[in-house]
Amino acid sequence: MKKLVHALLFILPLALIGQLKSPSEFLGYELGTQFTRHHQVVDYYQYLAQQEPKRMQLMQYGETNERRPLLLAYISTESNMKNLEEIRKVHLKNIHGEAAPNKAIVWLSYNVHGNESVSTEASMQTIYELLTNKKDYLEDLVIIMDPCINPDGRDRYVNWYNQYKNSPFNVDPNSKEHHEGWWSGRSNHYMFDLNRDWAWLTQVESRHRLKQYNKWLPHVHVDFHEQGVDNPYYFAPAAEPYHEVITDFQRDFQETIGKNHAKYFDANGWFYFTKERFDLLYPSYGDTYPTYNGGIGMTYEQGGSGRAGLGIINRIGDTLTLKDRIAHHHTTGLSTVEVASKNVEKLNTEFRKFYSQKNFTHQNFILNGNTDKLEALANLLDQHQIKYDKGTNASYKGFYYATSKTGTLRASENSLIVSTDQTRGSLAKVLFEPKAMLSDSVTYDITAWSLPYAYGLDALATESNVQKTTFQPSNSTYGIGDTNSYGYLADWNSMKDAKFLAELLNHKIRVRYAQKPFSLDGVNYDRGSLIIISADNKNVPDFTQILDRASKKFAKSLTPANTGFVESGKDFGSSYVEVLQELKIAVLSGEPASTLRFGEIWHFFEQQLNYPITVLDESYFNRVDLSKYDILILPDGWGYYSFITEKVAQKIKDWVSNGGKLIAMGGAVDGLAKQKGFGVKEKEYQRDSTVNLQAFDTSEREYIKSTISGAIFKTTVDTTNPLAYGYEEPYFTLKLGDRSYEYLDGGNAVYLAEGQNIPVSGFAGSEAKKKIAETLIFGTERMGRGHVIYMIDNPLFRGFWENGKLFFANALFMVN
Ligand SMILES: [Zn+2]
Repeated sequence: MKKLVHALLFILPLALIGQLKSPSEFLGYELGTQFTRHHQVVDYYQYLAQQEPKRMQLMQYGETNERRPLLLAYISTESNMKNLEEIRKVHLKNIHGEAAPNKAIVWLSYNVHGNESVSTEASMQTIYELLTNKKDYLEDLVIIMDPCINPDGRDRYVNWYNQYKNSPFNVDPNSKEHHEGWWSGRSNHYMFDLNRDWAWLTQVESRHRLKQYNKWLPHVHVDFHEQGVDNPYYFAPAAEPYHEVITDFQRDFQETIGKNHAKYFDANGWFYFTKERFDLLYPSYGDTYPTYNGGIGMTYEQGGSGRAGLGIINRIGDTLTLKDRIAHHHTTGLSTVEVASKNVEKLNTEFRKFYSQKNFTHQNFILNGNTDKLEALANLLDQHQIKYDKGTNASYKGFYYATSKTGTLRASENSLIVSTDQTRGSLAKVLFEPKAMLSDSVTYDITAWSLPYAYGLDALATESNVQKTTFQPSNSTYGIGDTNSYGYLADWNSMKDAKFLAELLNHKIRVRYAQKPFSLDGVNYDRGSLIIISADNKNVPDFTQILDRASKKFAKSLTPANTGFVESGKDFGSSYVEVLQELKIAVLSGEPASTLRFGEIWHFFEQQLNYPITVLDESYFNRVDLSKYDILILPDGWGYYSFITEKVAQKIKDWVSNGGKLIAMGGAVDGLAKQKGFGVKEKEYQRDSTVNLQAFDTSEREYIKSTISGAIFKTTVDTTNPLAYGYEEPYFTLKLGDRSYEYLDGGNAVYLAEGQNIPVSGFAGSEAKKKIAETLIFGTERMGRGHVIYMIDNPLFRGFWENGKLFFANALFMVN
């Protein structure tokens, strides 16, 4: 068996180094012969910072969910480090052409996917060499290194591997040490993929990191990854499609860097590929996000990942070791720094140019709508340093999002205006534009994410100037005021309202809600409006304080009501006014579910809604007494056909019939549909059967006919269905595939009506469009005394589709 060539890079000219210990010397084992636990990595970085205080600074920029430190190491020459803050300021001034910097900033990010575990190991070797025999590179550079973006995931993998590895390690791919299992280390604590979160910032690691990233906006950013064990190495230039805001220089410089890597890889006889698979479109990656902020953002992929362990035999019989993987990542890391060091002037000139090009077709985005949703959006924009203003009373023409056609929209002082003529104009364009232009429809990820759709706002993209006034945060006061009211009323139309309700239920407050619209004191209240009656809560000793605090905490307006006798609609004692009390909620985890889809639900409850759940693992699900729970959630996944046996289906049906509420998402619906007694039915669909005489080489193109790569569709909503309380038409859904179900016999809350199978944004293949025509998206079915809720699309996908979250909250609270 041929062994991959080991790098000679580890044999260092020791005489030049002085006292500084290499990772191997510090750790007490040769780098690549063990996985290094995160705390040991932290120790090594701290050691370096102590030894080299004049050339290195280490900062902790945050903490993970599991309380591991997040670190950044800054390294450069002694004189640069003395002026670090000045270098940073001068660099940022260059954005506005107010300075001519002579230093460049390179940011290296490691181990965003926890089980792509070579990265952090390689980072230690790389920083060591930059401080020793490659220190000449640093004359005009500041290097910022994040040794581990995802420490929780990394340690999950490393600890697992250490527990299961053979001694010595076994290269047989069948051995347990190469089969990580469901709870893998790829994602963070909440099973979120941090390399899909740069733009949405749903995760604590991303939010902390972005604060630091925005202070520096590096010229070059590398995100170190691993791909499957049978792949060689991937580096820049990236594959098509490229987003249209990417400049020629950004394209070209990737090529410059790639060619430098190739030089070293060729010399060592290592394999690699470029310009394939990893494109530059979806804005939430560690390569695209930096690119849309003026940098050269790149993904490097070593073959390996969680399967590889310390060594594994690959498809062609070669042994791939951790040492090989370290050598490769280490080589590209240093080569990147080398190229940057030779192009400091060019990087600075082009960085300035990137920020001066501001002639995008759409000059402004006008956003109207629910204040909670506008607030949620403004909060995201603040984190990205995208500026916004308030509108003034005037009408504008442009692309109207609701109809996908030219239209007019009236702006007012309640409108939010986002201009592309601002420092972060490119990023604003990428995030807001109605359709991302695709230079190729074969892409690695979703093709649509436009924020006005995601946040459920009425929006117009206009080519004209828009009158603006400075945004002032609202100075409304909250709290309950009069503590002797008969009751208090609150509207129900946003995720913020759901958080407010969860807070009250957590404090054992009894809340009612209206199933019919009503009016009181001349004010109209929609379905779902919350009714909190003092007498209902007479046994809650600090009822008024709790309510007052919650109102202030969530900036939630409450209207006092002095009577239960309404002017129109149903009185508060009516059976159309439902009572809500504490709910016991269970969520299935394990094999049938996808880790990511489970994680989205877990995160939704613990970090967004703040409401407790019980996690039931599939391994003992059959032994659990479901009668202890009011709600059971089956997350999307692939394993439901085997998990939902006749016996499991019966158990679930019995429980639902006795008053339980089942929420079935994606693949779980597929599993249920195969069993008797559920009203959901897969759409019968005839694939185009004409014989295909296209050339073999177009098979990839052929395949995408049946795919929907994350595209946005306009839907029809039955706003009288409790699942849709608080919504107005139109609702735009993000479809991630061609899963298709017939309309239900009643209870179709959201669906694609005739003609709605054409995406308003993003790519859907011709066959996929036919298949999803006139199908269900979200629906409810009554079963005995309980309910089944079907979610064909996923409103919690990556936690960023803000306007979908209320559907999920309605499924919990309003469907009764
Ligand atoms: Zn990765």
